[in-house]
Order: sequence, then C-alpha cells, then structure tokens
Amino acid sequence: MHREGGCACGAIRFTIDAPLLGTGACHCRNCQKFAGGGPNYVALVPKGVITITRGTPHEFHDRGDSGDKVIRAFCPDCGTPLWSVPEHKPFIPVKVGAFDDTADLAPQMHIYTASAPAWHAIPDNVPTFAQMAPAILAPPE
Ligand SMILES: [Zn+2]
Repeated sequence: MHREGGCACGAIRFTIDAPLLGTGACHCRNCQKFAGGGPNYVALVPKGVITITRGTPHEFHDRGDSGDKVIRAFCPDCGTPLWSVPEHKPFIPVKVGAFDDTADLAPQMHIYTASAPAWHAIPDNVPTFAQMAPAILAPPE
C-alpha cells in the first residue's frame, strides 16, 4: 500500500510502499519525552521501505532500555519526530503523526504500560504489556 507523510513544516516528506507490520503505542519514558507527554503512536514498517522525497532528517543517537542503539529521526527545522531505527530489529517504528492519513492506524497493542501515568486512559479491548511485547522482543526471522 502506498502511504505518504512528512513533518509539520513540510521540510521532510516521505513515501512508503509496503504493507505495515503492525501498529502500537509505547508508553516508555523516552517515548513520552519524544512524543511530548503521551505515548508514541507508531506503525511498524520493514527496514528499507521508507523513501525520503524531500529534505534530510536529523538523527539523534539514543539507547533503548535493552542497551541497544536506536536512532531517532526528526525534522531539523520544526522538530517533528518521524521514526526511529532500532539497531537489532528488522522494523522501523514510524510515528503515526508523521503520516498524512492516520485513519486506519489505531494501535493494535499498548506496550511499556508500567511507565504510563495513571491518568492516561488505555482501552481494555487491545493487548497491553507492562514492558516490551514478546512478539516485538523476538520477531519472527
Ligand atoms: Zn519540519
């Protein structure tokens, strides 16, 4: 499926021509920081399928709670978070907010809910995991 997205100011634009691997919301503290308070809503895509059609994202080199490196890409002009690149995972979580059309991107799971503030409503009709979801921790090869 063809999807398009970009940052708030339009300096960065991208396209994705591949089926999504899934969607989710991550409530870890780092994601709360990068999302501005809420969880990070993300859609997972295979590595190599994002085509940047305008601009060059800046990259912040971070580490996840596993200790693995994770690159966080954002617009150098407006700061919109775009996606992250986990070192040892076969997928890239793209921020749902970066897509032009988010209508079909409802989270299929909530992870790191142990870090979510008590006031954040999490629906009870989707799977939740206190930390990383087992399927994401050990994705099929
Ligand atoms: Zn921008």
